[in-house]
Amino acid sequence: GTELQLRVRITPLGNRFLLLLAADRTEEVRLAGVRRDFVANVSHELKTPIGAVAVLAEAIEAASEDPERVRAFSKRMQVEAERLGRMTKEIIDLSRIQADDPLEDAARVPIARVVDVAVDRNRVAADAKRMRIIPRVLDDVEVLGSEELLTTALQNLVANAVQYSPEATHVGVGVRVQDGIVEIAVTDKGVGIAQEDRERVFERFYRVDPARSRVTGGTGLGLSIVKHVAVTHGGEVTLWSRPGQGSTFTLRLPAASHHREETA
Ligand code: ADP
Repeated sequence: GTELQLRVRITPLGNRFLLLLAADRTEEVRLAGVRRDFVANVSHELKTPIGAVAVLAEAIEAASEDPERVRAFSKRMQVEAERLGRMTKEIIDLSRIQADDPLEDAARVPIARVVDVAVDRNRVAADAKRMRIIPRVLDDVEVLGSEELLTTALQNLVANAVQYSPEATHVGVGVRVQDGIVEIAVTDKGVGIAQEDRERVFERFYRVDPARSRVTGGTGLGLSIVKHVAVTHGGEVTLWSRPGQGSTFTLRLPAASHHREETA
């Protein structure tokens, strides 16, 4: 508040411009708050796995006479270290999307390729649960944007579908175009998401079941990355779910027009 007043007083310009400046300043202050919250959240979330690694290292030292326990503690240490690695990667993904110009490398991105890569990167996890991922892609569908970010977003949705579903179920990935909007839908037959959690799952670090999520290695960042990527591309992500029966997450993005200006 005080900072804002100061700005207004020292600026020797007309009223309308002053108003704009004030609005700008408010957004700046809001963004600074968002960044501060993010840093606070990150430090808080990193403390848990880092603390666990430290405690496990001590436990291993104390149990050095007992190979069985050393092995068990080492295994748990590996799990925590992997989780730390995942969190670090996701934090970097997030800060990249929140950077000044996340679409610096914008290009026409073939959605069929995005789907292929996103599905491929989840192959091992799906096989481990005897699950099949069934993609139904359309050729010639393109979106203007960052292939890397779009792939990361879809990869996260498919990873969740595998993660939050029972063994031997199927995950569908479908693509369609409607009124100039590309819809990429990821459908699972998993645990589903209760009504009261449907908005919140897109918040950073939000997990429906933190205890379970700790075991499975979730970070609570995946869906906030998906949402940021969607919004950055002028689109959105929507969620349909029936608890106990499954969920469908749909990325909706503006299609790149078929007419290539350079060749027109
Ligand atoms: P996480 O790393 O915990 O998976 P996300 O941001 O990807 O973080 O998801 C947030 C929460 O939303 C998850 O912890 C989970 O509770 C819920 N969730 C996400 N995807 C699904 C899904 N396909 N089915 C059921 N629950 C889901």
